[in-house]
Amino acid sequence: MSENRVVQGRMVTGRKLAELIEDDSVMEAEPIEDADRECPDCGGGVLKVGYMPSVTEFITGWKCQDCDWSETDRD
Ligand SMILES: [Zn+2]
Repeated sequence: MSENRVVQGRMVTGRKLAELIEDDSVMEAEPIEDADRECPDCGGGVLKVGYMPSVTEFITGWKCQDCDWSETDRD
């Protein structure tokens, strides 16, 4: 399965998806996965990606494919 997915009309890699969630650059990102949930804002499909914004941090982030909604497991 390709790791590239369409988000808000753009083809993105795991790294690009992580950067959209962080609104910043990230060091590393895993391949994109489908999250088993719907966007709370628009009901669209939600993608999941694990990434490292820095060497000491691992974050799991979720992002809607159709709107600006996203969240992370950051406390
Ligand atoms: Zn949405």
